[in-house]
Amino acid sequence: ASFGFRDVDVGAKQTMVDEVFHAVAKRYDIMNDAMSAGVHRIWKDAFVSRLAPPRTGSRPFRVIDVAGGTGDIAFRIHDRSGGHARPTVVDINGSMLAVGRERAEKRGLTGIDFVEANAEELPFEASSFDAYTIAFGIRNVPRIDKALSEAFRVLRPGGRFLCLEFSSVDVPGLDRLYDLYSFHVIPRLGQAIAGDADSYRYLVESIRRFPNQERFAQMIRDAGFSRVGYTNLTGGVAAIHVGVKI
Ligand code: SAM
Repeated sequence: ASFGFRDVDVGAKQTMVDEVFHAVAKRYDIMNDAMSAGVHRIWKDAFVSRLAPPRTGSRPFRVIDVAGGTGDIAFRIHDRSGGHARPTVVDINGSMLAVGRERAEKRGLTGIDFVEANAEELPFEASSFDAYTIAFGIRNVPRIDKALSEAFRVLRPGGRFLCLEFSSVDVPGLDRLYDLYSFHVIPRLGQAIAGDADSYRYLVESIRRFPNQERFAQMIRDAGFSRVGYTNLTGGVAAIHVGVKI
């Protein structure tokens, strides 16, 4: 079966995305390791290094981690800032957040808030955060432009936007290998580990449909951000995009 995800309207897309993440929430962390052979950890470390949250300051560093799911980015931000950062994890999916809350409890972390909300309509006042992060999330949001303007709105002037997302591979040889892996290995791994090939077909399809590095950078500029740029990871399999609200 296919998700036929190309032709659906935005409401239907969000419903599909929600079903995928409700279905995989409990196995999500294991699947990430299996699918990426642990590489997602290196990318996430690089992403949070790029954020470089301060370890000191007169008030906590406020970060909103949107589509934060099971908390991977928030935990790294917490650790890297020596507890000085105050991450707010936002996700539309209660099942993913429940796993995140449980993980936070196990780690004895108390300074992390978990909020169920839509990236397209954030329940926060303008200029509430010093930084906005989103990792492997924006691809799932039906109206990316709305999510980007919400990012711009909730950041304070001088606040930074950072996005980690799958992107376009532009290395001869690697691109073909990556196609083989995406279309043949990933759905089979999904079937073997989670009994769910369809969710992982959705994953591959959504990656293919996401705008490439330059086009996405332009969307970030269009939302009002300045000093927009990007860095490729693993030959463009993923990329970090950044911008500043001036
Ligand atoms: N950031 C986490 C990580 O890197 O491990 C989770 C990424 S997971 C691939 C994508 C997340 O996006 C899911 O938890 C999903 O519920 C969330 N999501 C999808 N649509 C969303 C929306 N409109 N608003 C907020 N979160 C959304």
